[in-house]
Amino acid sequence: MTIALVGNPNSGKTTLFNALTGANQHVGNWPGVTVEKKEGRLKENKEVTVTDLPGIYSLSPYTLEEVVSRNYLIDESPNVILNIIDGTNLERNLFLTTQLLEIGIPIVVAINMSDELEKKGDKIDLSQLEKELKCRVVAISALKGTGINEAAEVAIESAALGKTLPVCVFSGSVEHTLAHIEEAVLHHLPLGEQRFFAIKLFERDRKISDKLNITAEQLAHIEEDIKRSEEAFDDDSEGIITSERYTYIETVIGKCVRFKDRGERTISDKIDGIITNRILALPIFAVIMFIVYFVSVTTVGEITTEWMEDVVFGEGGELFGVHIYGIPMAVGNMLEALSVAEWLQSLIVNGAIAGVGAVLAFVPQLFILFMFLAFLESCGYMARIAFILDRIFRKFGLSGKSFIPILIGTGCGVPGIMASRTIESDKDRKITIMTTTFIPCSAKLPIIALISGALFGGVWWVAPSAYFLGIGAIIVSGIILKKTRLFSGDVAPFIMELPPYRLPTIGNILRSMWERGWSFIKKAGTIILLAVTCVWLLSNFGWYAGNFGMVAPEYSLLAEFGRSVAWIFIPLGWGDWQSAVSTITGLIAKENLVGTFGILFGFAEVAEDGMEIWANLAAHFTILSAYSFLVFNLLCAPCFAAIGAIRREMANFKWLLFAVAYQCGFAYIIALCVYQFGRLAQGQDFGFGSTVAILAAIALVYLLVRKEKHSFA
Ligand code: GDP
Ligand code: MG
Repeated sequence: MTIALVGNPNSGKTTLFNALTGANQHVGNWPGVTVEKKEGRLKENKEVTVTDLPGIYSLSPYTLEEVVSRNYLIDESPNVILNIIDGTNLERNLFLTTQLLEIGIPIVVAINMSDELEKKGDKIDLSQLEKELKCRVVAISALKGTGINEAAEVAIESAALGKTLPVCVFSGSVEHTLAHIEEAVLHHLPLGEQRFFAIKLFERDRKISDKLNITAEQLAHIEEDIKRSEEAFDDDSEGIITSERYTYIETVIGKCVRFKDRGERTISDKIDGIITNRILALPIFAVIMFIVYFVSVTTVGEITTEWMEDVVFGEGGELFGVHIYGIPMAVGNMLEALSVAEWLQSLIVNGAIAGVGAVLAFVPQLFILFMFLAFLESCGYMARIAFILDRIFRKFGLSGKSFIPILIGTGCGVPGIMASRTIESDKDRKITIMTTTFIPCSAKLPIIALISGALFGGVWWVAPSAYFLGIGAIIVSGIILKKTRLFSGDVAPFIMELPPYRLPTIGNILRSMWERGWSFIKKAGTIILLAVTCVWLLSNFGWYAGNFGMVAPEYSLLAEFGRSVAWIFIPLGWGDWQSAVSTITGLIAKENLVGTFGILFGFAEVAEDGMEIWANLAAHFTILSAYSFLVFNLLCAPCFAAIGAIRREMANFKWLLFAVAYQCGFAYIIALCVYQFGRLAQGQDFGFGSTVAILAAIALVYLLVRKEKHSFA
């Protein structure tokens, strides 16, 4: 027994899914969150499977979400559809309902957001609506949990009652054509399913005619009928169906809904007047993101990171008057007492604990960042950003839809890259896949925090600049790539409805923080632990005077390997082996970069005074080389997991290579310019590096401003 949750984006499907199944799927106050279907078991009745489908406005074949949902409904025919409707937006939501009623699967309509309806004062006559739609209708609030178990029960009952009837009857001549199509090519199908397919064929839906193996001859035959209707209505066939559906919906709403008078603009409208204002929108966005990064990375960092490093991973501290050792010392003393071999002690304390500890030291900052992001997402602000950026992107032939993957990418690049699937245009999708990981993900936060804190002493602009660097890199790359022959083409229309502002629930915010924070901690305990252990081994063993064994770090295998690649980074200002090695381990997972620093710069002192990465690191970099290091590592190829995601989404090895090469090349050029121009600004002498940087900058500007030669698709 399967219940499929179907409805418009942002109607509350996932909230209901979580409430019914006890699952923890991500809920966001913006469309496009659920791209794949999710399954779960009903809490109250484990025999019943609930499927959460991507949100759709219609059953047409234009977007991936629509195709995924539609194929699921047609091919796997769930026992019953629970159609979730945003009660505050009946007209648009019922458009999908009229179509769902045609596919011959029992359906129950759940009017969601009934709490908001009540606040607004609108009344929906449920029993009248049941009569109109010829199916059961229930009112629920997925958020508050009211009526949801009843909705599931009604759905289970309705599944047993059999099929639902189509209720939307079109004008005589359209019905005539539909009957003709059914007779000509669909008569072998069960009666209940014929109407849906007939309408789709009338709309010239080629995905459906291919699916039904309709021959070219048959198509030509029904084409005559369709043309005749189009002439009669002076509209294309899809337009005819759409406007007839809306006419029908209007009469239904007229009979079933009593709106409370509302002359004024709603609060949401007023807020939007400011936030999406043409002039103010971007400065407001910049200020908000600045505050988010400044507070979570810089302010919180000053308090917590030192505490983590000095107390938890350092000397320890007083608790109720008792001195508690920090983890490295406590573990060190314990290993000493157990008389564990010295090299193993060092591996555990100076390798695993120093490396993983350096990463975990940033957990408090991450949680605060996630809290901010979850708040901005669920209150509805992030959806506005996509809308605002769309206005800008559009000028350069890009769509604001690309912003949704980027938004998801602030948590982790992998789901961000996957979310690019919803972009219809293949070229725009590829651009988005290539640029999504420019935005700092949670794994890059420790790098930002370390450099901002340790090397810049917590200057106000460093942490927020990382975010704006990411956004800037995306816009610049988008423009450059779009102007090349590979990606040129028209802008796909991007229609995004702005969800109302909502005060997020604490539960949703905590869930979102925990979901992202926990995966960070889990990663530190597994892949990072493994990687830093390898780093410790490689940095402690090597050849010295012809013998292989434990050596000083300078002679280790790691140092030798680092030196063999470090020259590449000399023009960027950080050609030492430690930085090169850290950058490379960062490709496995970005946190590794900090973990590796923890081992290479922290270990000598760990056992005595706590981790001294900060001071040691500061001695190792200049302000310029540190920023260039940050820039390169934020923009270069992402971690293995994200590279894997790029490969899956591109489904092509050459494209993967192109994407990674582009990211690394772009990162290199920007870091080079930062370092070399910085040097010149400091009055240092002009060298070969400066010449290359100037040439690279000129090339970049040329690619940005040149006329588009291939403006046709
Ligand atoms: P989906 O896109 O259909 O999966 O919708 P979500 O489940 O992600 O919910 C979209 C937004 O609507 C979130 O901000 C929810 O908190 C909010 N929401 C869902 N159900 C209700 C409800 O019954 N009442 C109110 N006020 N908000 C709701
Ligand atoms: Mg959803």
